[in-house]
Amino acid sequence: MKTDLPRSNKQPSGSPPKPEWRWMIWYLILTLGLLWVWQEAARQVVYRTIPYSEFKDDLNEGEVTDCSIAESEIEGKIQPKATSPKAKAPPAFMFRTVRVEDPDLVKELDQHGVKYTGVRPGFMSQFLWAWILPIGLIGLLWWFFSKRMGSLGQSVMSFGSSGAKLIADKDTNVTFNDVAGEEEAKYELQEVVTFLKHPERYRSLGARIPKGVLLVGPPGTGKTLLARAVAGEAKVPFFSISGSEFVQMFVGVGAARVRDLFQQAKQHAPCIVFIDELDAVGRQRGVHIGAVNDEREQTLNQLLVGLDGFDANIGVVVLAATNRPDVLDRALLRPGRFDRQVVVDAPDLGGREAILKIHSRGKPIAPDVDLHKIAQETPGFSGADLANVINEAALLTARHGGASIAQKDLEDAVEKVVAGPERKSRRMTPQDKRRVAYHETGHALVAAHSKHADVVHKISIVPHGRAALGYTLQLPEEDQYLMTRAELIDKIKGMLGGRAAEEVVFNEITTGAENDLEHATAIARQMICLYGMGESVGLLHCGEKPNPFLAVAGDGAMQRDCSEETADAIDREVRKILDGAYAESKQILLQHRNQLDSVAGELLKHETLDAQTFKNLINLPAVAA
Ligand code: ADP
Ligand code: MG
Ligand code: ZN
Repeated sequence: MKTDLPRSNKQPSGSPPKPEWRWMIWYLILTLGLLWVWQEAARQVVYRTIPYSEFKDDLNEGEVTDCSIAESEIEGKIQPKATSPKAKAPPAFMFRTVRVEDPDLVKELDQHGVKYTGVRPGFMSQFLWAWILPIGLIGLLWWFFSKRMGSLGQSVMSFGSSGAKLIADKDTNVTFNDVAGEEEAKYELQEVVTFLKHPERYRSLGARIPKGVLLVGPPGTGKTLLARAVAGEAKVPFFSISGSEFVQMFVGVGAARVRDLFQQAKQHAPCIVFIDELDAVGRQRGVHIGAVNDEREQTLNQLLVGLDGFDANIGVVVLAATNRPDVLDRALLRPGRFDRQVVVDAPDLGGREAILKIHSRGKPIAPDVDLHKIAQETPGFSGADLANVINEAALLTARHGGASIAQKDLEDAVEKVVAGPERKSRRMTPQDKRRVAYHETGHALVAAHSKHADVVHKISIVPHGRAALGYTLQLPEEDQYLMTRAELIDKIKGMLGGRAAEEVVFNEITTGAENDLEHATAIARQMICLYGMGESVGLLHCGEKPNPFLAVAGDGAMQRDCSEETADAIDREVRKILDGAYAESKQILLQHRNQLDSVAGELLKHETLDAQTFKNLINLPAVAA
């Protein structure tokens, strides 16, 4: 199943940014309305508007004390007279009236001894009152709203500046002690820490530290945690940004952000730039079509430029994490960019116990708790799953009012996490685990007892990804440019060893060997079709070429360039090779049945075996099973 749709866009890129603009227009209307109301209200409060006739009456009664005559209106002060000699006079008030054509006004004003002035439209004071104050008020309102509306206001005002600015962590407070298991990854990253702490050591030697380190591993295994730990160990600022944050609504924003990010990083060197979920931007270019991908390509290009754009020794180290290294653009992985890869694997038994220990630190744990046992019950759990188990256990304890987390709570929590809605972790039954152990041991033993096979480096029955339940890692001892027929056959034998072991031990076969069969068949087919190693087909080269009419870059529409009869003959030869190899690997396993049992037993106990342990086990002449 493919689940690699870009998980990035918070807003679908197709729809225009409507809400913001509608909001702006409403805001404008509101502003104008408010301004008008304000000016009116200010006058209403201070000045009482009266009809001109009333003004004339008051003037004739001698109540108007002074006034100023503007072009279109008259303002002034009226001191009403008391209605009876005993009563107190009503308070004076300011008045305003609209001017009416009245040529004798000045004469009358003189008659009643009113002080009068002519005015130009008031300037400073009016300006201050009518504009500055309300605008100030509105500004305040805007500030208040934009604070409340948070991101909405921000997306209008400040798109284009990097989100990384906000997350520059001065000290992450995480160290390697907070990461359990993953010893190999920690070992690799220790070098980065040393470099960030003592760059002069490397500089004086002329050594170049890798600029980019890619953390690769399944989700929840602690990649993000490790990156933070590196920053914490080295005590340097930590710029973190997620790949999906680059890919945004506006085209060009992602690229601008990358530029910004690197600029800031250079200023803060030594520091760490961490790009989480790199696959969201780092996908292979040119495979997809559409606006979103355009944007991503621009961002990716900018990222490549950014990675090239600083000297390796200024002290900026770019860490990135992904769980899909297979989809990354190859340009990202070339030397000088993310040329170093650190595998962050699902934890094995010891690792799981250590993770459980870390996460139960500082929590009240009952004395009966056996974390080793919990670790044994949880193969395939990632670090995040185990952290979740501890948390669930604490919740369960709280629910039944316990004082400390008991073994029972932990076991219930495991159940809960396994049966939880996501079912992302697989828990193998003991039977399945036994089968997988024998299967993997089969691969390893057949390889060990074949003359030309690569050396076994590691055997593991920790489930990986979605498909593999375990794996046997074989690495050649030296680079090899040519392979002999015998070597190829031995390779096929090793691949079929898993299936053979299942048949030898359980007398029953499972679905677990599909991948092995696929690879073995592919090699056998290449031997016949490409390398001319078949008997009846001989030297005929029968390749599969991309179909020129159907092929899209990277897409597999293949076309065979040989006849039907030849294809038949090829199939028969492939079959013969596979059958022969299978018979041989079964023979090997039957011969070394005791080793099969002892290695599988050991594997069940520890879940992973390294090269040395494996060698010791099969070199002991007779192992008591
Ligand atoms: P990833 O980035 O690989 O998907 P995270 O680093 O986000 O995983 O891990 C999620 C959480 O799981 C971490 O915050 C931590 O609590 C826990 N965790 C995962 N791996 C480990 C580990 N090796 N040691 C301790 N805790 C871990
Ligand atoms: Mg992560
Ligand atoms: Zn296998």
